Amino acid sequence: MGSQEVSSTVDWQGKHVTVAGLGVSGIPAARALHERGALVTVVNDGDDERARAQAAELEALGITVRLGDGATLPPSTELVVTAPGWQPDKPLFLAAAEAGVPVWGDVELAWRLRGTDGREPAPWLAVTGTNGKTTTVRMLASILQAAGLRTAAVGNIGVSLLDAVLGETEYDVLAVELSSYQLHWAPSLRAHSAAVLNLAPDHLDWHGSMAAYAADKGRVYEGNTVACVYNAADPATEDLVREADVEEGCRAIGFTLGAPGPSQLGVVDGILVDRAFVANRQKQAQELAEVTDVNPPAPHNIANALAAAALARAFGVEPAAVRDGLRAFRPDAHRIEHVADIDEVRYVDDSKATNTHATEASLAAYDSIVWIAGGLAKGATFDELVTGAAKRLRGAVLIGADRALIHEALTRHAPEVPVVDLDRTDTGAMSEAVARAAELARPGDTVLLAPACASMDMFTNYNKRGEAFADAVRARADESA
Ligand code: ADP
Repeated sequence: MGSQEVSSTVDWQGKHVTVAGLGVSGIPAARALHERGALVTVVNDGDDERARAQAAELEALGITVRLGDGATLPPSTELVVTAPGWQPDKPLFLAAAEAGVPVWGDVELAWRLRGTDGREPAPWLAVTGTNGKTTTVRMLASILQAAGLRTAAVGNIGVSLLDAVLGETEYDVLAVELSSYQLHWAPSLRAHSAAVLNLAPDHLDWHGSMAAYAADKGRVYEGNTVACVYNAADPATEDLVREADVEEGCRAIGFTLGAPGPSQLGVVDGILVDRAFVANRQKQAQELAEVTDVNPPAPHNIANALAAAALARAFGVEPAAVRDGLRAFRPDAHRIEHVADIDEVRYVDDSKATNTHATEASLAAYDSIVWIAGGLAKGATFDELVTGAAKRLRGAVLIGADRALIHEALTRHAPEVPVVDLDRTDTGAMSEAVARAAELARPGDTVLLAPACASMDMFTNYNKRGEAFADAVRARADESA
């Protein structure tokens, strides 16, 4: 069974499928394939209590589970379905490549299984990029809802695509967030329209190089039928459109924070305008919403709103629904979230700033900052970030495994900025970070958690990191009240 032959019409009966990784995507994948008659073996690196409990449930259904060995490819495997995070150079995938066995991710599986239950499958409006994906997909879903469409924000966002595709609920269209990992493992995905919001170095340890990362992001445009939406301020995204193989008639649509050219959406005098999906784009522009309808109206977020609007307009949504959807949108937690003001110092949680590109946007939003940063750098360098922000830094408090990298960049480019280097990773570390930041802050300053790093060295995820910060801030607020 070569990759070309495995299609949505595949007869799963008796196919040997290896599912790599127990977890949020692996378990539903194993179940769905088993229900269709495939002979499923789940392989998993870990062999802890939780994995055993999950394995027992699957085994009770007749699924084979092999714990403690995610590296060896079971000999009869005809297809591997992997969790998106598994690194592509793992021995399992090398063995699969050698044996000519195709590898699909969770997104590819969902794409192939959509419509197999006889229902008309909903088209996908896809969003990827280094930063702003979740925000944009939620804005998009809000706009589509305002237009009266049955939709959901799904994908790399909490709701699995497989659940959305195979579940009871019927959708007219899906707003799909896709990570670079998911795109890497989704060779046959064909979205109605897609946006790449921006492209900055991230996850390079996983992809191996910037070129490989960009190529995986660019896959989102492959086979688009109506619009490929790019960021006019980020030429790399436009390059990806140019390189993509799309359906005849599919258009390149840009978004810009400036006045839009033909086939672009942009901003004129505080109004979001559309010069792409209008009858005469040489002469006409359609008003969509006001900048103040975007929540919060920070520049990077207006860009997200324009991208969401472009995808919605590509799907035929009316201007009034764009405005109503943007007005109804509320941002998620830990994204430039204001926690409290204490002694005239503002405390802001942007724990979701897990890379330098997001942190750059975040640091640009405030004038005088005590910056809490650090964690897992994922191969990033910090020179550019620190150089750009140096003037606005009152001080920095560094936490986590790779804090020395940030410290070195500060020493090189902002030697006058006082730095507190916290050499502890226990549960009290964030509280101390907040206390030390408070010592450095003066009235009018912002203490900003924008770590530019992943959280997993100290926390389960960025949510927990943000909660630890907010808890520490609130405890101080209570003390000072
Ligand atoms: P993602 O899903 O891509 O991680 P989010 O919407 O969750 O994106 O935002 C992640 C982080 O990136 C947040 O810290 C936010 O402040 C920042 N951010 C959001 N949109 C943009 C953008 N367009 N450009 C740069 N940074 C952004």
